Amino acid sequence: MDVLSKIQALREELNLHNYNYYVLDNPTISDYEFDIKLKELQELEDKHPDHFDENSPTQRVGGAVTKSFDTVKHEFRMYSLDNSYSKEDLLDWQTRAQKILGAVDLEFTCELKYDGASISILYENGKLKRAVTRGDGFQGDDVTNNIKTIKAVPIKLKGDYPDKFEIRGEIILPFAGFEKMNQELIEIGETPYANPRNTASGSLKLQDSSEVAKRPLDCLLYSLIGNNLPIASHFDGLEKARQWGFKVPMHSKLAKNIDEVLDFINYWDEHRHNLPYETDGVVVKINNIHQQEELGYTAKSPRWAIAYKFKAEQVSTQLNSISYQVGRTGAITPVANLEPVLLAGTTVKRASLHNADQIGKLDIRIGDEVYVEKGGEIIPKIVGVDLTKRPNDSVATEYITKCPECDTDLERKEGEANHYCPNFYGCPPQIIGRIQHYISRKAMDIEGLGGETVALLFNNGLVTNYADLYELKKEQVVVLERMADKSAENLINGIEKSKEIPFDRVLYALGIRYVGETVAKKLAKHYKTIDALAVAKLEELTSVDEIGEKIAQSLIEYFENEQNRVIVERLKAYGVQLEMSETDNTAISNILEGKIFVVSGVFEKFSRDDLKKAIEDNGGKVGSSISAKTSFVVAGDNMGPAKLEKASQLKIPIISELDFEKMIHGE
Ligand code: AMP
Ligand code: ZN
Repeated sequence: MDVLSKIQALREELNLHNYNYYVLDNPTISDYEFDIKLKELQELEDKHPDHFDENSPTQRVGGAVTKSFDTVKHEFRMYSLDNSYSKEDLLDWQTRAQKILGAVDLEFTCELKYDGASISILYENGKLKRAVTRGDGFQGDDVTNNIKTIKAVPIKLKGDYPDKFEIRGEIILPFAGFEKMNQELIEIGETPYANPRNTASGSLKLQDSSEVAKRPLDCLLYSLIGNNLPIASHFDGLEKARQWGFKVPMHSKLAKNIDEVLDFINYWDEHRHNLPYETDGVVVKINNIHQQEELGYTAKSPRWAIAYKFKAEQVSTQLNSISYQVGRTGAITPVANLEPVLLAGTTVKRASLHNADQIGKLDIRIGDEVYVEKGGEIIPKIVGVDLTKRPNDSVATEYITKCPECDTDLERKEGEANHYCPNFYGCPPQIIGRIQHYISRKAMDIEGLGGETVALLFNNGLVTNYADLYELKKEQVVVLERMADKSAENLINGIEKSKEIPFDRVLYALGIRYVGETVAKKLAKHYKTIDALAVAKLEELTSVDEIGEKIAQSLIEYFENEQNRVIVERLKAYGVQLEMSETDNTAISNILEGKIFVVSGVFEKFSRDDLKKAIEDNGGKVGSSISAKTSFVVAGDNMGPAKLEKASQLKIPIISELDFEKMIHGE
């Protein structure tokens, strides 16, 4: 086979696997095998730049940076939808349509109304040409580079697609991915995103497409647009789009009358909470395309479609007080304490108030009757105030100006939504939070020491920073409340053992703002020692893969601080690993992220513990028994027959230690 054919074959194959995984949700090869093939293609393309294709699956990782998005006029306007809230509204809508069409029976397609950011994607000759946001409906932004990184969006179509058409849909962020993103932000002390919809639409306007590629975005499509399309009904159109390779949810239903439409609505009003993404209603469309054309548009929306909005799950209750929490990084979060009330099956006592702006905007006051809503987020939020019930003596809420824990004046940085307590070294929740982070499982993983004990140690004046842990004596600890002799001993031993934790995890444990696990690994690998890292200049730091300005600035601030430098020196003196050990020549990466390994049998090169460590050092997880969730079984000699059978039954790839080594070296 010549090079070009080989390249094309790989592209076809990888497109198919993307389709199986992201559209059908039914992968047929392991992620690892996929990565190998992608890498092979990348290498061929690197060697033969004349065969470059902007629509190659290798381009899905992004990389293109858009400084400002081009404005594109929509060839077909992107309309809004009228809203309806009741059966009467729907019947009125039907009557209006029948006035124009005559007294004919109508058929309807019912679809869910996905809550994200709308997008229109142009395809020519089966290839993705351009993707444009809705904008004001007449013109939007060209976000093609970003859309191409979303793997549910096909870059090449299959089947009998028309030469030229647009397809419209919604870019969404499913709950699971949204929560994962927030978890990562919380871990590095950043403010989590407020909701999936805004995060999805914000993602489309990121300048760096490789950042977009990292977000678990999805794209659900609902409408074909173009001249002379080969479809007679909207419902057919959905089916056709599916055949061409688009992700069109299967929930859509054909309804013969408004009663059947209502059945669909009632069903989803109840069951929508089981969907993996957010929906805010149902869209009802007259099915016949000729009828659609005859009906046309009002100034704002099609006459042939209408949205039915679900009632948000909302209750009202009294706001008793507002508390202000101080996080590990000093960020202040206002929390509403509510008169307990039942909402969507759970009793709600607290709700998030986000920040000062939010309180000001809604003019939320203590004593108010407030509306509480549960959207996609886990924590309910206050969406408004029932002004008719506001007490006469009510006073506007004044946001605190001093830290509730240490009385320091709060600061608010330009462009940031949150207030911060700048008393890094004197504010108790910040001190305790930092030590708790230091000892946490992903950081120093100190056995025998938990979050509450840290607070206890601090309150008894025994520790004020994580370096102090290494000065603790058993006699000091054993006298504390609820501290038995044995637990005091475990605690001291656990601290002692943490001196073996490798450098990259220590770096993460220091709790430098924006330095999460992955960043810490990258930095450790690049700089090898904390001394080298501590003197690195801004330009030098940002030249390291994945280290941006924000992270670099935060590192510089950390090491500029005298107190931090003293603590680091002390850690070094106690024997904590502040450089990569010479013998540690296994790779450190996140190459195995998201994969679960089960280790079985005896090995030649690795001890079982080394193998497990290597898995974790490279971002993977070690599972104890084989299940459908297992990604690979690493098998040595004498693997048990029961395990072998289970693995083959579940079609889980079994690999040797050699395969594993290749894997972590990215071969
Ligand atoms: P609105 O923004 O409330 O006027 O509603 C119109 C928007 O709903 C459209 O721009 C789409 O982005 C969105 N939408 C979500 N799901 C659908 C669907 N199944 N059919 C049509 N529009 C939808
Ligand atoms: Zn404070």
